[in-house]
Amino acid sequence: MSTNSNTHPKLNKVYLLMDCNNFFVSCERIFRPDLEQQPVVVLSNNDGCVVARSAEVKKLGIKMGTPVFQIKDLIARHHITCFSSNFNLYLDISNRIMRLLETISPEVLIYSVDEAFVILHQVSQQQAYSAACRIKKTIERAVGVPVSVGAATSKTLAKIASHYAKTHPDCEGVHTLFEHNEIQRILRELPVGEIWGIGRRLEEKLSQEGFHSAAQLASADAAAIKRRYSVVLWRTVHELNGVDAIKELEEGHMQQQIMWSRSFRDRLCSFEELSAALCSFAAQAAHKLRELKLFCSIISIHIRTSYFGESHKYQAEQSLRLDSPCSDSRIILAAVITLLKRVYRPGFAYAKAGVILSDLSPNRLHQGDLFTSEHSAEELDHSDTLMALLDNLSTKNGAALYLGAQGCQLKKQSFNDKRLLSPAYTTSFTELPAIC
Ligand SMILES: [Mg+2]
Repeated sequence: MSTNSNTHPKLNKVYLLMDCNNFFVSCERIFRPDLEQQPVVVLSNNDGCVVARSAEVKKLGIKMGTPVFQIKDLIARHHITCFSSNFNLYLDISNRIMRLLETISPEVLIYSVDEAFVILHQVSQQQAYSAACRIKKTIERAVGVPVSVGAATSKTLAKIASHYAKTHPDCEGVHTLFEHNEIQRILRELPVGEIWGIGRRLEEKLSQEGFHSAAQLASADAAAIKRRYSVVLWRTVHELNGVDAIKELEEGHMQQQIMWSRSFRDRLCSFEELSAALCSFAAQAAHKLRELKLFCSIISIHIRTSYFGESHKYQAEQSLRLDSPCSDSRIILAAVITLLKRVYRPGFAYAKAGVILSDLSPNRLHQGDLFTSEHSAEELDHSDTLMALLDNLSTKNGAALYLGAQGCQLKKQSFNDKRLLSPAYTTSFTELPAIC
């Protein structure tokens, strides 16, 4: 069928979802072209688990999150190249891609490090398809990361279209979902659990009630779904029918929490070690919070021993609410230490810990009460200046300046163990790629 713009009316609003293929692996391959079509994995921060896989590795059946020790023989047998996570490189490449997208359309919603929605208004199906092809070509040519692009009139369908484009080579990386029959065809093949926002628990519940495919959910009575499940699933039903129903991303509510957690290759046992690790995570999460110009009201920590092996198991989590929203590392770190004192038990070998900052808001506004003392404007100004100074020095010189509680010299390698790290090709002059 022709998709000539004359035979189709203009669409009010179209979402193009750009998704980088195997993003971390693709970033590594930019500087290692010899690894094209070779099996490559990127490992978690302490080289413990697989966090990104090339298509060749996916074909071997290696799942996301697999601990490295379980696939040692596969790595050797198939000559899989392993990299430690080089987040500075990935973030830099991500920024370049997002900046490029902004030159294509002024309306870009960055959804994650490797995904963004580009919004177009008053375009025909053909124009939307051409724009999707242009995005793919521009990014691949200028940055060198392969991407898939899906286009539709709702974000959920755009995500489905881009996933379809990625997994069907005949699409050449671009697919649009505008025509009713085509939408139905793809939704019939798609299990409900693969729809954006439907987690495993909801998937189980839905399939018990007879919703197995996305097409079945799309044809459900939206009002009944809202009563029986939630307004979130009600939106999904609309979105599957091409109705633009998810507004949160535009309103800036995207970031719900900031989490920083790591596994430790060498287990941590003492309170001091664990406290230094958690404070270091909290400092990085707080830095991220300030970068996003947000404030948090709830601070949580979690600690646990390994799930594997015979050793004694223990896990705990604990949260506290601050008197007022804040982004000051000193307050956040003090809260983390208070929380750790509540949950720490000696005699265990801790394998993982993390910090979560939540209840995020773009300002310090809150409901005060008679019992908590308010900070003066002068105190808040002082805090902002100090934190800006801390962030400035840290970004210029790595983590040059840190708070004493981070115990920077204390076993730093045990929670930041990257033996297979690629060079900082794009962010350090001393590590620029050499052309021989
Ligand atoms: Mg991706």
